[in-house]
Amino acid sequence: MRIAVFPGSFDPITKGHESIVRRAIPLFDQIIIAIGENADKRHLFSLSHRKQWIEQTFSDCPQIKTEIYTGLTVDFCKKIGANFILRGLRTAADFEFERAIGQVNKELHSDIETIFLLTAPEHSFISSSIVRDVFINHGDTSLLIPQKITLTL
Ligand code: ADP
Repeated sequence: MRIAVFPGSFDPITKGHESIVRRAIPLFDQIIIAIGENADKRHLFSLSHRKQWIEQTFSDCPQIKTEIYTGLTVDFCKKIGANFILRGLRTAADFEFERAIGQVNKELHSDIETIFLLTAPEHSFISSSIVRDVFINHGDTSLLIPQKITLTL
């Protein structure tokens, strides 16, 4: 079984995340979207909302599951038997950041491979932090987030 973990904060899930996961469906038997609970990272949206929005987004995809985890992503992968970590790349800054994490993860667990997909050009400017900004300032987020979800605090 090819199982991939797509880790992130998903505060909230965006059209960019959705697109990466949908494009990865043909590559894996199962994709676990894993919300990392990080004690020193502050969130706008509650964990239960973030999880619910991911589940709504992929309600049509039985091979996609949503989990919450704490600790190292590679340890979570080991625990659930995943051999791949899926990440999206938008910019050169993303690349530098991901390169460091990917190389450390490889040192920690050499049998887990990180797979990168380039963002679609129309999603390259979308980030959860921009969505939060637009939401807080009462702007229209509908072009930035998955069609099936409605944001609420
Ligand atoms: P993190 O807390 O790790 O920054 P995010 O929830 O922001 O997590 O992102 C999770 C993954 O989704 C990362 O690999 C990130 O590069 C990718 N990603 C975020 N936004 C986009 C986008 N607009 N297009 C493609 N990939 C994206």
